[in-house]
Amino acid sequence: MQAARLHEYTDEMDAALSIEEIDRPVVDAADGIVVEVEGAGWCQTDNHVVEGMWTEYVPQELPMTLGHENAGTVVETGDGVSAVAEGQQVICHPVMTCGICRSCRLGEDMYCADLAFPGLTTDGGFAEYLRTNERAAVPLPDGVDPIDIAPHADAGITAYHAAKKAVSELNPGDHAVVIGVGGLGHIGLQCLAATSAAEITALDPKEGALDLATELGAHHTVNPGSEDAATEIEAITDGGGAQQVLDFVGADATTALAPEIVAAGGDHHVVGYGGHVHEPAQALVDGELSYRGTLVGRYTELQELVALVERGDVELRTSRYELGEINDVARRLEAGAIEGRAVITP
Ligand SMILES: [Zn+2]
Ligand SMILES: [Zn+2]
Repeated sequence: MQAARLHEYTDEMDAALSIEEIDRPVVDAADGIVVEVEGAGWCQTDNHVVEGMWTEYVPQELPMTLGHENAGTVVETGDGVSAVAEGQQVICHPVMTCGICRSCRLGEDMYCADLAFPGLTTDGGFAEYLRTNERAAVPLPDGVDPIDIAPHADAGITAYHAAKKAVSELNPGDHAVVIGVGGLGHIGLQCLAATSAAEITALDPKEGALDLATELGAHHTVNPGSEDAATEIEAITDGGGAQQVLDFVGADATTALAPEIVAAGGDHHVVGYGGHVHEPAQALVDGELSYRGTLVGRYTELQELVALVERGDVELRTSRYELGEINDVARRLEAGAIEGRAVITP
């Protein structure tokens, strides 16, 4: 089968991956499944993997097939598989978990003591076929296109996970701020709008992104390119600040907003990454504010997100590309020239 593989870490996205012929994966465990990949989302994390940014955090052996946002049709199942059947369309939770460690029993899939992460630690979905396990597969309802939904396997679930944590702390009348209405932010905003009664403010330097935010349910917009974000948010929240902030950018400049815009006792959820958190400890003590990290999400949260998609509450803008165009997609995403989410259709 054809697969897009990384042989060497590089900053040159033009030639990041090579398309080659490799053996099709086969089921090698009782709970294993093989999925014929219909859609595999290209993600900023793929650019980071290409650059070698994940080597400190996860075990990686090259060459490796990238692609962790996968959906398609089950074509082979292990002897012990009962939750999915051949021919079923599924979206794949990004990690293969063991099911028996304490984290798995708590439902915290991402903390599994024995997990594999296709596209980050094992071969992923930028290929015709993907090996994963039945615990990762979320069956798709009729009428949900696996190509359109693929990016929800990581981008969507990550945004939903952060939004769900925020919503659990948001009462009607409270304020939420969404920083960055891009690939993840526009999903997080819709999740907030669909599941909370908070007043939502979107912050983005692009006017087009702010228009999209308004269309998707934001009550207020702030452009930090032309307005002072802290002053505007103070005015919108009557001086009280926002109880919950979802930071889909995670740059120094956005994490630095927390002491100025988060209400007392509130949270600044860091979803995007690349920058640092540099605020004085005293600012956290004075406002009793917290920075909270976000790592993908639970299997059950992917099910909930699929339900929101089926209801039409969360729409995702996608553009489709062939496997052979993958380095072009990598380069264009790096340059900020991809609209919505790019999906590879191997
Ligand atoms: Zn991703
Ligand atoms: Zn486990």
